[in-house]
Amino acid sequence: MLEKGVDIRVEKEIRKIKESALADLKNAGSRDELQGLRVKYLGKKGQLTRVLRGMGSVPPEERPRLGELANQVRQLIEEELDKRLAVLDAAEKERKLAEEAIDVTLPGRPVQFGHKHPLSIIMAEIKDIFTAMGFKVAEGPEVEYDYYNFEALNIPKGHPARDMQDSFYFSEEVLLRTHTSPVQIRVMEKRVPHLPVRIIAPGKVYRRDDDATHSPMFHQVEGLLVDRQCTLGDLKGVLLSFARQMFGQDREIRLRPSFFPFTEPSAEVDISCINCSGKGCRVCSNTGWLEILGCGMVHPKVLANAGYNPEDVVGFAFGMGVERIAMLKYGINDMRLFFENDVRFLHQF
Ligand SMILES: [Zn+2]
Repeated sequence: MLEKGVDIRVEKEIRKIKESALADLKNAGSRDELQGLRVKYLGKKGQLTRVLRGMGSVPPEERPRLGELANQVRQLIEEELDKRLAVLDAAEKERKLAEEAIDVTLPGRPVQFGHKHPLSIIMAEIKDIFTAMGFKVAEGPEVEYDYYNFEALNIPKGHPARDMQDSFYFSEEVLLRTHTSPVQIRVMEKRVPHLPVRIIAPGKVYRRDDDATHSPMFHQVEGLLVDRQCTLGDLKGVLLSFARQMFGQDREIRLRPSFFPFTEPSAEVDISCINCSGKGCRVCSNTGWLEILGCGMVHPKVLANAGYNPEDVVGFAFGMGVERIAMLKYGINDMRLFFENDVRFLHQF
């Protein structure tokens, strides 16, 4: 009697679950709700699962019938879940299409063109000017041996000039190059004994500096000419031509004696102030002149280090900071602007 009562109760429960599930499904308005219902009825702790687990208390002869009934209900709920999901998905798609409808009669949006970075513009200009004078573009590694960066350029270990170029070292013998001058040595080594050597070496260099006029990474262009004959006058002529093409045909230049270990004699090169044309103003600190680069006649030791006989050949070299040239040309007072990638700044060039 008692067992008979159990199977009737279970059957009633299964039918109740079916009715309640079908009613819930009809009202479900989202994927999340459907997932919740799946868990509620069919999940590990779901209502139907619980009934199936309790089948042990049903008389054995009734189990197959009730088990089949429970499975039919499970299948029905699953089918209805899928149907409802399909309906909801279709409605969602409709809604999105309506929302994102494209008005094909609207005019197209203009494409924003990018352009070159100011440093790339200046770098290209420098290359154009010197290649037109017969210089070839040469390149060298940014990770450099101490030998090429210093020793071969007549800056032995312990030389005070090293202190002025605070360097990033990887080991005692390997560093990030502090200037483009090592390219001089690398090019001459390959070219020897042929003449002339006539190159410019543009590229990135690295020093441990960081303020408004110094960046830990910046750009230089090195120039080198080696031949049987050339003079300081030739050097000045080349640099005057460069200054006028870069900063205007009315520029004058002057050479001030200076010191670099790899040139002798050495000079700093000034151009007449582009703001006041030499009268004196705030830009040029009332001197009328602006320093743009360093230069000199290649030191005989440097020629010898590269394999040339300094008795037979002479050369001149110069080096400039590309940022410095760009700052002067565009009137920029903070070098960091070049590297901050602010499009409001970059759009002006
Ligand atoms: Zn001035």
